[in-house]
Parts: sequence; C-alpha cells; structure tokens
Amino acid sequence: LSGAMTSLTLRVGDLAGEWDRTGLIPPELLRDLGAEGRLCAEVPEQYGGWGLSSLRSGAYTAHAGGLCSSLRSVMTSQGMAAWTIQRLGTAEQSAGLLPRLTGGTLAAVGFSEPGAGSDLAAMTTTVRRDGDTVVVDGHKKWVTAAHYADLLVVVGRHEDGAVAVVVPTGTPGVRIERITDPLGCRAAGHADVHLDGVRLSADSVLGGHGLPTALLVTTALAYGRMSVAWGCVGILRACLAAATAHAAGREQFGRPLAEHQLVAGHIADLYTAEQVATRVCEYAGRCWDEGSPDQVVATVLAKHVSATQAARGAATAVQVLASAGSRDGHTVARAYRDAKLMEIIEGSNELCRLMLAQHALSAPG
Ligand code: FAD
Repeated sequence: LSGAMTSLTLRVGDLAGEWDRTGLIPPELLRDLGAEGRLCAEVPEQYGGWGLSSLRSGAYTAHAGGLCSSLRSVMTSQGMAAWTIQRLGTAEQSAGLLPRLTGGTLAAVGFSEPGAGSDLAAMTTTVRRDGDTVVVDGHKKWVTAAHYADLLVVVGRHEDGAVAVVVPTGTPGVRIERITDPLGCRAAGHADVHLDGVRLSADSVLGGHGLPTALLVTTALAYGRMSVAWGCVGILRACLAAATAHAAGREQFGRPLAEHQLVAGHIADLYTAEQVATRVCEYAGRCWDEGSPDQVVATVLAKHVSATQAARGAATAVQVLASAGSRDGHTVARAYRDAKLMEIIEGSNELCRLMLAQHALSAPG
C-alpha cells in the first residue's frame, strides 16, 4: 500500500491548489487512476479491484484526502457506486459493471433532490416499469463527480419501494448541469442532474426490485460515510503538517511561533483532533472488517467525529499560518473550505447526532 500512496503523491504532485483554482482535475488523469483501480480500492480482485479491507482502504483514502479533497471526493463517489452495485446488484450486474468501474469508467451517485436533502424519504424521482424497459424521471442535486461521470447510480421510487438504477450519462433525457461555484472541493465535479423520460433496459435496476428507502439509503451511504471520515483524517494530517512546519519556521517577537504558548496550544489541539479522528476511523474500519454488529453506529460516529474535528482543525491551521495560509489554493485555505462541507454531506452533523442519540437511547443499560 505504501507504494500506491507514493505513486498517488507523485501523480498529484503540487497540483491540488491549481485544480482547486480552476475547478477541474484533468479528466484523463481520473480515467487513468480509475483504470488502475485506484478510485474504488475495496472492489474485490475478481472484478479487477484491489480487494482492500476497510482498514487498508481507509489508510489509502486518508492519504488521498491529505493530498486533495476534490480527488478524494471523486474516489468516494466511485467507491460508493461500486459498493452499491456490489451490495444491491445481482451477480450478473456485479460481473458486468464492477470491472468497468475498475477499468476507467467513472461513476457518481445521486440521492439528493430539491425537496429531499436530509429527508430522503421525500424523494420524488420515479423509475417506472414499461414493458422490458424502465423510464426514469426526476432531478438530482449536488451529485459529486457527475461532471466527470460516465455512469450514474440514481436512487428513485419504483412500484415496490426504492430502487437504485444505473444510468449511462449519454442516455437521451440526461442533462448534467455543473455547479460552478461550490464553497469547497471545487474540482470534485459537483452537478445537478436532470432526468427527463430516460428509458433504460429493465436490468438497469440493481437487484431488479425495490427495497425500503431507509435500508437502501443506509446501505449505499455507509460506504460514503467511511470514505468521508477517512478523507477528514487526511485533511487533519495535512493541516497538522502545515501548521507545525510554519510554527517551527517563522519567528515573531524574536522566537519561533511554536515557542509562544498560545500557538503551541493550537498545535496540541490539531494533534489531538488528528489522533481522535484516526482512532474512531480505525475502530469503525475494524468493525467493517470483522462484520461487527457495531458497524453501523461506529460508521456514523467516525463520520461525525472526523468531520467536526476536520472543520475545527482546519480553522485552527489557518489561524496558525495567518496571512501565509490565507490565499486560495493554499493547503490550509482549501482544507478550511473543504472540511466545512464534510459537516454537511453523507449525513449532516445534525442527522448524525440524531442517529447517535437514537442509538444511545435504545442501547440496553
Ligand atoms: P437540508 O436538509 O435542507 O438541511 C438544512 C439544515 O437543517 C442542515 O443543517 C440539516 O442538518 C438541518 N436539518 C434538516 N433536517 C433536520 C432534522 N430533522 N433535525 C435537525 N436538523 C435538521 N447528494 C447526493 O445525492 N450525491 C452526492 O454525491 C452529493 N454530494 C454533495 C457534495 C457537497 C459538497 C454538498 C454540499 C452536497 C452534496 N450532496 C450530494 C447533497 C447532500 O447530501 C445534502 O446537501 C445533504 O443531505 C443536506 O441536505 P440539504 O443541503 O438539502 O439540507
């Protein structure tokens, strides 16, 4: 894995700031990374993936997150699409689709709608059966990586529950409308997706039948939550490295910043944030790898803790660097904007707290 991390570092080089400023990762680079299986590293080897455990995949995701949150976001979407296909699709669908996702085809996942953000039960996108085809109508919002995607995994309502349907972006009736001014993760290719009378073969519906909305959404989002959580660990590591280097190197009042105790306190807070986030993610990763019954709650906890620590830690890092970190494209400036969004996606802070409270209230004794 360390070789894969070094190679990713070399591919990203010092370009993350430039991608952030231009709002674009070169699509050919994403396609190359995808074709090397780097964007969905947990896909089993039989489908051309690396077959990484959750813990090892987490270490790789944190590394990517430390380099570039936009790239890590694309990775999260690709991994979530693959995970959803693997979990909900038939054996034939997995055999047909997963080798594409490890072979350079790029994918994104659409749940959110204008009237259905936190409340996904309010989704109105429909997947209507028509002979041996299905017709998809709806509007998905803020779909990460949709600008780059060849395939969309779209969640909608079917006659017998919620379904996930695989939609090639080139299908007539699909319109991708780029969000050009996101607060952060500016090169992650966020877009709104309009689906108007999109006709697909009936075998585009994963598993072929509906599921309760909550079950389907929880299954798909679980992967995304772990990936975002580890991405936040990466943000914290990048911020800690930038803040310690700056505090050790710059002098004010005749001494390095690090020797001023209030600045040292910031460094201690950042180190604590990075350690806390790492440990909760490691625990959740072990739950995944062991199939522990704690997996669901540990995943929500990891996402919530990591996102809140990253948002706070990135703000701290900007404070330590002050003017040196206050320009677009700088590691800590990007982190500050990127981390804030992590408190919103894949279950906002509030939704995570509600789920954690529900768990605590229902736990025996
Ligand atoms: P709302 O649901 O309107 O919530 C507004 C505020 O109210 C939030 O603080 C929320 O926590 C709070 N709130 C809502 N309900 C409750 C409640 N019951 N109790 C307490 N507080 C509550 N969607 C996708 O489908 N695919 C993607 O790839 C994707 N990527 C995204 C990337 C980014 C950068 C962003 C910003 C969004 C992305 N989204 C994506 C959409 C994201 O999932 C939603 O923004 C998120 O679910 C919140 O929905 P909302 O923005 O409509 O906020």
